[in-house]
Amino acid sequence: MADSIYDVRGRIFDIQRYSIHDGPGIRSIVFLKGCFLRCRWCCNPESQAYEIEKVTVDGKPKIYGEDTTVGAVMDEVMKDAAYYRRSGGGLTLSGGECLGQPEFSTALLAAGHEFGITTAIESTAFAPFEVIEGLLPHLDYYLMDIKHVDSEKHKEFTGRPNELILENAKKLAARLGNRLIIRVPVVPTFNATESEILAIARFADALPGVERIHLLPYHRLGMDKYARLGRPYAMAGIVPSPAGLVEGFCEAVRRETSLECILGG
Ligand code: SF4
Repeated sequence: MADSIYDVRGRIFDIQRYSIHDGPGIRSIVFLKGCFLRCRWCCNPESQAYEIEKVTVDGKPKIYGEDTTVGAVMDEVMKDAAYYRRSGGGLTLSGGECLGQPEFSTALLAAGHEFGITTAIESTAFAPFEVIEGLLPHLDYYLMDIKHVDSEKHKEFTGRPNELILENAKKLAARLGNRLIIRVPVVPTFNATESEILAIARFADALPGVERIHLLPYHRLGMDKYARLGRPYAMAGIVPSPAGLVEGFCEAVRRETSLECILGG
């Protein structure tokens, strides 16, 4: 075990600065390698495997994945300390699934708090609650994906059933209240109907303290990455929803529930 949280090691594949969509204020997003799910529409297929992957892009070698330490990540993240202070921003862990590397994730969030910045994770909560619980003392905002309330359909499109996710959502709401924010990728052929989105919204509305839901329209920005990884893109024949459809879902959520519905991140 590492002596200091700054020596804890983990595996990431990217750090993105100046994000305004993944928690309050201006944030840096640290993308961890490895995910428990295999969503057909995933726009970060390089995040899914924990293993480091070597590919060729335009004839040049590219490596997805890097072993690093909390200290090295925070050196990069804290380059934007002035922006965080002015905006109430900070550090967001994404992926992949940060719960797949709980010791590293916990240490990163703890380091964020030591530096006095806000912390957030983007996560599907597909893990034993004891694993999630370890992160909570150092976490300000949980941006939690709920993709479908029907477990069969969830499994068909993500490779995993949803019972554990929905149970964890209830436990997280009891602990976090309005610091739990529900996010829904709206994906044609999977959940892009008003009734399916409203079913998720009603579930979220019944979670104590939860006030916000974000609807994230499906896009195809990650499609090229599948080709680079030599993997088929399972959504190749699926086109994004027409403009206005997802906004209409948001209006239905506002009408039918007490949630604040936000289109996009
Ligand atoms: S949970 Fe997120 S990172 Fe994991 S496969 Fe699904 S879309 Fe990709």
